Order: sequence, then C-alpha cells, then structure tokens
Amino acid sequence: MKEKGIDVISTDMRKIVESDDVLQSMALNVALGKAVVCRGFKGIPFDLSGKRLEYPSGNSAYLCKGQSNVVLDRIELIEKAKGFPYIVIDCVFFDDHSEKEKKKIILQIQQSLSVVRRYMWDEKLIVTNLKCGVGVYYPSTVDFIRECGVKNVVLLDPNGEEEFRGQKADCYIIGGIVDKSGSKRGWTSKIGDLLRGCGVDFKSLKIVLRDDVVGVPDRLNAITEIVLRVVLDGMNVENAIRCVQSPLVARWRLKKEIAKKTVRIDVNGKPFRVVRRSVFGDFDWLNLRLKDFYDVCGELGFLVVDDSKVEEIIKKAEYDDKKKRWVLIT
Ligand code: SAH
Repeated sequence: MKEKGIDVISTDMRKIVESDDVLQSMALNVALGKAVVCRGFKGIPFDLSGKRLEYPSGNSAYLCKGQSNVVLDRIELIEKAKGFPYIVIDCVFFDDHSEKEKKKIILQIQQSLSVVRRYMWDEKLIVTNLKCGVGVYYPSTVDFIRECGVKNVVLLDPNGEEEFRGQKADCYIIGGIVDKSGSKRGWTSKIGDLLRGCGVDFKSLKIVLRDDVVGVPDRLNAITEIVLRVVLDGMNVENAIRCVQSPLVARWRLKKEIAKKTVRIDVNGKPFRVVRRSVFGDFDWLNLRLKDFYDVCGELGFLVVDDSKVEEIIKKAEYDDKKKRWVLIT
C-alpha cells in the first residue's frame, strides 16, 4: 500500500474490523479472492500499522468486492507475497490410526489452517495422502514437491539429525501422526525414508527445548505455530515453544527436571525429598502456573518448603556424604 501511495485503508466488513489483526484479515480476504482493495473510503479507517483511526486522513483505499479503481487484487498480492513457506501435513499413515486418532488428526489439521491464516493464506497449507476438505490436497508429498518445483525441503522430525533454529525452507513437512498409545515412535522418520526412496532431498530437523524434545508440544497445529512464529516473526525457538505450550506439556518436562532440584533429608530415619519454593522461579522457561509446580511435586511425593525453612533444617542436620542426604535427629 505504501508503494502505491496509500496511507489509510478502510473496510465496512464487521468480521475484519473485529478481528485481532485487521491488516492480516484484509490481506487474507484479498489472497482468497474474496475482496480487492480499491481507491476510496468506506467504513472504519486504519493506518498501515493496523491502528484504528477516528477519521481517514491522507490517501485512502478500502476493501470491497468491486472492480473499478482497483489498487490491489489477489494475483498481485500473491505475486508480492513470494517467499512464504508451505506447511505440508503428510498423512501417509492415516489408515494406521484408530478412529479416535483419525478424528484428532482432522481436528488438528483444521486448527493448523487457523494458524496458517494468521500468517499466510489457505493455499500455503498442503495436506497429502488424505482428502479431508482442509488445505490443498495432493496424493503424496512427492507429487506436491515435484509439481510445485519446491527446492528447499525440511522434514520436522523429533528424531531429526539437526536442531531447528529457524532455518529457512520453501516447505516444512509435518507428519500427520497422532500418537495416543505411544506406539508410533519413529514414524516421522519413516516419512523421511519414503521421501528419500523417491529421490527427494531434504533436511530433517528436530525442535528441542533446552536439548530435549520433552516439553515440545506435538500437536500438528502447535508445531505449525512454532515454525511460523520462528520463521516469519523471527521469534526464538524457546519463546515460540512457550507461547504454544500447554501447562500439561510443561508439567511433563518439569517432572523430568525436578528430581535434580530436590534436597534429601532423613528426619528420624524417615526419608523426605524437599524442594525449595524458590525453585519455581528456575522454571520460568516453562509455561507453568504455581499450581502446576505444586501438583507435580505432590505427584512425585516431594515436599515444597519455604527456602528459609529448608536452611533452618539443614543447619540442624548433618550431611551424610555417602548417602548424599541430610540427617536430622530430633
Ligand atoms: N510419534 C511420532 C511423532 C508424532 S507428532 C514420531 O515419533 O515420529 C506429529 C508430528 O509433529 C511429527 O510427525 C513431526 O512432524 C512433528 N513433531 C512433533 N514433535 C516434534 C519435534 N520435537 N521436533 C520436530 N517435529 C516434531
């Protein structure tokens, strides 16, 4: 719009005016061919940073379905929007899922489309091996890669060779896999084997949170969001993970980490494992509420105690170096 000398863009489409990201909603409507931008004014004006204005001031354009005085249409916008990546959800193993898991895959693909629409537009979501009415269908990922001449391909795989740090690619492949039973470990790598077998060159990258995949959400929409936040918004991977991490997934990681933070104390021969309350602050890189912290400690049988109380106990106790614990006789 700036290039075309436009300062203000307006619309009377209520859904757009009420959306969280007005400019993205406008762009999405143009990219989907539902509207064009024309010279003139109608409805509520916004400046080019998306701020709502009281009055339109400067050169004005508006979103409409019309055909005259067009400043920007779908073809030109998409031409300008080169460089956005494809998200490919490969459902080659769809039939190997239970009915419940199949429903989850479809739901997560729908949710991935909502994510894609926040950053790009519908045509950037490709669903292969499954016709579910969401995204652009291709019979296989290899068909898509060949037909669209995609060059730089990344497979997101928890067992990937390298760590994902925001490496740019033309397409990011996500396995359309939902693993409720834990029986599908390594299946993403099988997608890689199939691609390699067809001569497709790709990099397999794993998303890790402080060197571990535990704590990285594995829902298809969450993976889509992490990738787009990092690649398009320039967010670092850790922050992107925390933005989409549910407290449940954060608790899994805490469970893995918290044992290292306990203090072992034997009181009159009875063993306790105590966690200083301040330890909660060491986990600000997880999306945890204080309640989650207490719950996890409770589940593992660890006592959360005020720091000063722990110091008080330790002062009165003796350290047994062999058993690596404090011993207190009262
Ligand atoms: N159980 C499967 C993973 C299914 S999760 C396996 O072990 O291969 C669904 C998809 O999300 C995966 O196919 C992968 O593309 C993506 N994904 C999930 N966690 C990931 C991680 N930590 N790093 C990279 N990709 C991941």
